[in-house]
Amino acid sequence: ALVIEIRDVTKLYKMGAEIIHALRGVSLEIRRNEYLAIMGPSGSGKSTLMNMLGCLDTPTAGHYNFNGRNVATMVDDELADIRNREIGFVFQTFNLLPRSDSLHNVELPLIYAGVAPAERRERAVQALEHVGLGNRLHHRPNELSGGQRQRVAIARALVNRPSIILADEPTGNLDSRTGVEIMALFEELYAQGNTIIVVTHEEDIARHARRIVRLRDGLIESDGVVR
Ligand code: ADP
Ligand code: ADP
Repeated sequence: ALVIEIRDVTKLYKMGAEIIHALRGVSLEIRRNEYLAIMGPSGSGKSTLMNMLGCLDTPTAGHYNFNGRNVATMVDDELADIRNREIGFVFQTFNLLPRSDSLHNVELPLIYAGVAPAERRERAVQALEHVGLGNRLHHRPNELSGGQRQRVAIARALVNRPSIILADEPTGNLDSRTGVEIMALFEELYAQGNTIIVVTHEEDIARHARRIVRLRDGLIESDGVVR
């Protein structure tokens, strides 16, 4: 089943009198349980495409269907709803609440989704156990290692059982050994049926994926299977 269907998407930014073509006609289909990396040099449009995929922004022109729904013309509240319910975000800088423990950080998306407290707690504990942090429920981010912080963030991304996990340079703030551990966790989540999209400029990270999409100057330069 197709989760993401992007067709002829363009994105323009106006900078005073100048118009910047960040995406110049991108088409991309992503099926359930794919593991995809998006690569490209600085300025090629990765962040713009990632913001589009993550329903943080809409195209200037073109089509974007997410699980069969047209998101290209959605208003902010509808986009926020899709982000909260259907997309698990993982960031380079983890984006955890510093004063909250692991459990509360992971419960947060469920609070937004209106899940009742008891169920919230149970699902957050499950998600943290899933990433190997069942013994770190009451640690705050500064009491955790970088790799553990990213695991909390991944548990938070998983807790809503999203259609896609969208990770932006997920190993960018980790030493290489810890980065490999995080990629092993993504591998496990992929094997369990998750759909994973990693945006990265590191070849070593991208080759963990099964498919690599390369951007250049706002266009897809290549899209192929990793051997
Ligand atoms: P990448 O993530 O691959 O570095 P971006 O998607 O950030 O590329 O940028 C693509 C192009 O769009 C660049 O030329 C960048 O300067 C421009 N751009 C990105 N975001 C904005 C913005 N908010 N306003 C104006 N120009 C932008
Ligand atoms: P960059 O890749 O250029 O460093 P970021 O990934 O930090 O930029 O953010 C890209 C865009 O996504 C920004 O417009 C930012 O406001 C938005 N963004 C980042 N994190 C979140 C979030 N958790 N929820 C909503 N929007 C976010």
